[in-house]
Amino acid sequence: MVWSPARLTVLAGPSGVGKGTVAALIAERHPKVYLSVSATTRRPRPGEVEGVSYFFVSPAAFEAAVDAGDMLEWAEYNGNLYGTPRAAVEDALGQGRPALLEIDLAGARQVRQSMPGALQVFLMPPTWAELERRLAERGTEDGPERRRRLATAEAEVRARGEFDFVLTNDDLELTVAQVASIMGLK
Ligand code: ADP
Ligand code: 5GP
Repeated sequence: MVWSPARLTVLAGPSGVGKGTVAALIAERHPKVYLSVSATTRRPRPGEVEGVSYFFVSPAAFEAAVDAGDMLEWAEYNGNLYGTPRAAVEDALGQGRPALLEIDLAGARQVRQSMPGALQVFLMPPTWAELERRLAERGTEDGPERRRRLATAEAEVRARGEFDFVLTNDDLELTVAQVASIMGLK
């Protein structure tokens, strides 16, 4: 049997587990992969680049895009809106490129309904303490926001059984290789 590359893959998991790191390495090493750039109403972190990290938009612009049907999925996460612009993903898939979405649990559930053929991957931290350490080490959120993210993480981790693959992101290189393999990338 010929193993054909997955068309659409969802990467989810608690904040700080390493989703962004893994997705960026997959895209860097497999330029054929389209890594979706989400829209968000959250404020940019230092170093984040408009159109690369996210499209940073106002709540009004975000809601207008949702109303126009321009979001493949969207969700509110800890008080901010995040969504996947539909056109870029559909263009990539239309060109035969595998697409990778790094999104939250609510978004993953929407994609499961709307695109049941998508592969759904959930990243787990090796331990809870290590998740806390990574979030703190990243240093992009203050203490209260980190605590909110960890509370959200508990609910996300409880839902991991919904996913096709659950990977523990301990050794980064191993995780990247596993995701590439799941996506059928060579
Ligand atoms: P997420 O996108 O899931 O919120 P990030 O990709 O921003 O998480 O990673 C959070 C932090 O953890 C970053 O500082 C990143 O360098 C680090 N990290 C990611 N994967 C690993 C790993 N396998 N081992 C150790 N640190 C990691
Ligand atoms: P962050 O603020 O750390 O960049 O992202 C917070 C959460 O929002 C993460 O779980 C991330 O995966 C998720 N996220 C990022 N983009 C999207 C998106 O387009 N849709 C959804 N549903 N979640 C997203």
